[in-house]
Amino acid sequence: MDANKKWLSIPKETRSQIKNNVYCTNCNDAVAIENFTVEDDKLGIVMKGKCQQCGHEVIRLIETF
Ligand SMILES: [Zn+2]
Repeated sequence: MDANKKWLSIPKETRSQIKNNVYCTNCNDAVAIENFTVEDDKLGIVMKGKCQQCGHEVIRLIETF
């Protein structure tokens, strides 16, 4: 499975929770991610995008099984 398929296999509600709960090191808080891409990782998938509040790069690992 490629990363995008893994991402889409996560229930829609869970996905929206994940998207709205990404840690931004610049804001030092949980923020919403925008303009993100999904990539394969050893442990699952990695979302890479921008903090919706400040535009800082944010990364979130999602462990899939
Ligand atoms: Zn931020």
